[in-house]
Amino acid sequence: MKRISLTAKLLFISLFISLTINAQEQKVKNIILLIGDGMGIAQVYAGMVSSPAPLNIERMKTVGFSKTYSANDFTTDSSAGGTALACGVKTNNGMVGMSPDTVAVNSIMQIAKNNDLATGLVVSCNVTHATPASFVAHQPSRSMTEAIAADYLKSGIDVFIGGGRNDFEKRKDGRNLSEELRSKDYTVVHTLEAMNRVQSGKMAALLADNHPGKAAERDNLLVKGVYKSLELLSKNEKGFFLMVEGSQIDWAGHVNQSDYVVNEVLDFDKAVGVALDFADRNPGTLVVVVADHETGGLTLPKGDIAKRTFKAKFSTLKHTGVPVPIYSYGTGSEIFGGFMQNTGVFDRMLQSYGFGK
Ligand code: MG
Ligand code: ZN
Repeated sequence: MKRISLTAKLLFISLFISLTINAQEQKVKNIILLIGDGMGIAQVYAGMVSSPAPLNIERMKTVGFSKTYSANDFTTDSSAGGTALACGVKTNNGMVGMSPDTVAVNSIMQIAKNNDLATGLVVSCNVTHATPASFVAHQPSRSMTEAIAADYLKSGIDVFIGGGRNDFEKRKDGRNLSEELRSKDYTVVHTLEAMNRVQSGKMAALLADNHPGKAAERDNLLVKGVYKSLELLSKNEKGFFLMVEGSQIDWAGHVNQSDYVVNEVLDFDKAVGVALDFADRNPGTLVVVVADHETGGLTLPKGDIAKRTFKAKFSTLKHTGVPVPIYSYGTGSEIFGGFMQNTGVFDRMLQSYGFGK
């Protein structure tokens, strides 16, 4: 009898431990949000057809759709689209981190910061461009890039990586924001090699005067930036929020160049792979891949799977209003399935963390 009760006790203890571990695994600690700017399903499929191996995006478990219209237009721009994802409000095209009545709205990144999480972003454009700006800045116009740069100093963001050095150092107001960042304990670097040497603390990597080059010309900026961001941000025991943007998928759509689209999608997909591998090793990590809108009205009327070729047709040099896919993976990813507003992506991220606005 004594032996049975000991077994029973051990069973209870192991059941209790496994329930506790399960409960811990269900809580989202880290979110990696990857935005393919202008990346509709045709852009992703162009990448899939061209690639000899399956894309990392194909590893993702849940797929949903985001309705992208803005507060004042059927077809959003990247600042209203970015603001919807970042801040959970539909605003007017051109506005950054604000509601249509110019009231600043906290972004998911700022809310994460207020809850003591580490925060960061990696982009393949200027860090002052519309999409990253939506997470960090509050300005009535995306064109106010020097004001957006100054908002980085107020944001408390831990790590930011991309182009846009001129907006920090060659400004009409004469301020040198790189020096101001250094006085706030940031390590400021201008090459990937210098970035890779940074082992801890806050870091700004401004890797080009303006925008970094195309995928082939920027030495895996996105992948290397995501690795470094994850290394630095994951030192925070409470967790982190990281935004990664494949910025130039959109630009490829604007010039209707399918090769440029494919190269940018494949480059972005490598960064997605790094995020998914991190999620596999770190339970409590949620990975969401989304677009702010579709660009170019791309369709693929014919192709050859065996030869990995396709014919591309674009219907516009601008954005289109069709919904764009949301792909999600990891802890809590199930709630990103189905149709939702673009602002619903923000709502679900907030819910996943368990934070209030
Ligand atoms: Mg963008
Ligand atoms: Zn665009």
